[in-house]
Amino acid sequence: MITMVSTAEQSKTHGALASLLEANTDKLLTCVHCGLCLPACPTYRQLGNENDSPRGRVYLMRGVVEGRLDIRDAFISHIDLCLGCRACEPVCPSGVPYGHLLEAARFEVSKAKSARGQKSESVLRFVLNKVFTRPGLLGIAFMLARGFRDSGLARLMFKARLVRGRLRFALALLLSSRSAMSKVRPPHDTQPSTRTMERVAILRGCVMEGLFRKTNRATERVLVRNGCELLKAEGQMCCGALHAHAGQLEAAKLLARKNIEAFLESGAGRIIVNAAGCGAAMKEYAALLADDPLFADRAREFSSRVRDVSEFLVEQGISKPTKHVERRVAYDAPCHLIHAQRIAQAPIELLRQIPGLTLVPLRSYESCCGGAGIYNLQHPELSDAILRDKIASIKESDAEIVATANPGCIMQIGAGILMNGLNVKVVHPIELLDAAYED
Ligand code: SF4
Ligand code: SF4
Repeated sequence: MITMVSTAEQSKTHGALASLLEANTDKLLTCVHCGLCLPACPTYRQLGNENDSPRGRVYLMRGVVEGRLDIRDAFISHIDLCLGCRACEPVCPSGVPYGHLLEAARFEVSKAKSARGQKSESVLRFVLNKVFTRPGLLGIAFMLARGFRDSGLARLMFKARLVRGRLRFALALLLSSRSAMSKVRPPHDTQPSTRTMERVAILRGCVMEGLFRKTNRATERVLVRNGCELLKAEGQMCCGALHAHAGQLEAAKLLARKNIEAFLESGAGRIIVNAAGCGAAMKEYAALLADDPLFADRAREFSSRVRDVSEFLVEQGISKPTKHVERRVAYDAPCHLIHAQRIAQAPIELLRQIPGLTLVPLRSYESCCGGAGIYNLQHPELSDAILRDKIASIKESDAEIVATANPGCIMQIGAGILMNGLNVKVVHPIELLDAAYED
């Protein structure tokens, strides 16, 4: 139920809370209400409520800008329920930049929640602004998480059902971040390529380096194998994607500036990212800092150098792997790779290079898995309903391995597989390519 506000309230709300949305009025006006985005939207498909569709949410944002609608419970809840998957963008004939509008709306929502003193918002702000912006503190937090995950205690607690409900799911998420590749094939030493060196720097990432170190090391080996010289980008930080999606735009900008300085100073011609969400955010630094007189030009330069690792390898031509990986593999496309970065074929092309690997089709491989950052913890019921569809399609595929290129998707799908007792591994495509290179 949407509450329209009185004229007296309008100016107060409008002036105090809707400044960023108002600055995006031109983008809001591009929506022609055709409804072509509705079938692509997972929350609309699940809930059948127009307010939980892209068209509905754009209409609500316009309501706020035009002073017809307050930023209260209904607006907040429909904006909160959006996954940020951006499946609505490629299907929109008007090119509505939904991702940017959502970040603006989330900025307003975050301010409104803080003004009300909402506890969950304060905790989220604290974690994002005081932990994720401090690499030392973040490193300690991930070290503790890894220690718990790898000690055997986490698996024991899961198997013995010592925790239930959402805590059990959170445990499954953590367990799913442990690389499954050792069960496919052990890692090998890198044989450098004889090709001309491309100078690249890799985003280590906070979650990737914290929980997916083996994937990062596999990425490094594959790049060296493909003729790259790896440069260090000292001082690099979290990419800020989580901050931008949660409406913490100032923190996202601060992190973006630090990354721009670190990577441009490294001298790398290409900035390689193996996490779809981080790559999408970094390709959008140019838009994020467009109004920053000191950083706008450098942000454009930076964004033009960012490549997803599969995109980069396919652009360069992949060194032929020779080892067989005799597995049935289904590819699941991360939303921020296929919708936000519009990279559909490169990861599939990469998997096709691997001798012995059989690619099996996955129904709705382009649909969100329901992970969406911390959405699975904030909106467990809807996230579970979306995940159920994904698990059903994995069962139908008869795959032994699901390959997907984003830590959040690996953990969400992996947790769904664990909770359902399936014998399927979830791995990053780059780990499969790494396994296919010579010892
Ligand atoms: S497809 Fe684009 S123009 Fe059409 S309703 Fe959706 S957002 Fe609006
Ligand atoms: S981002 Fe995803 S969940 Fe949100 S409106 Fe677009 S399609 Fe729907």
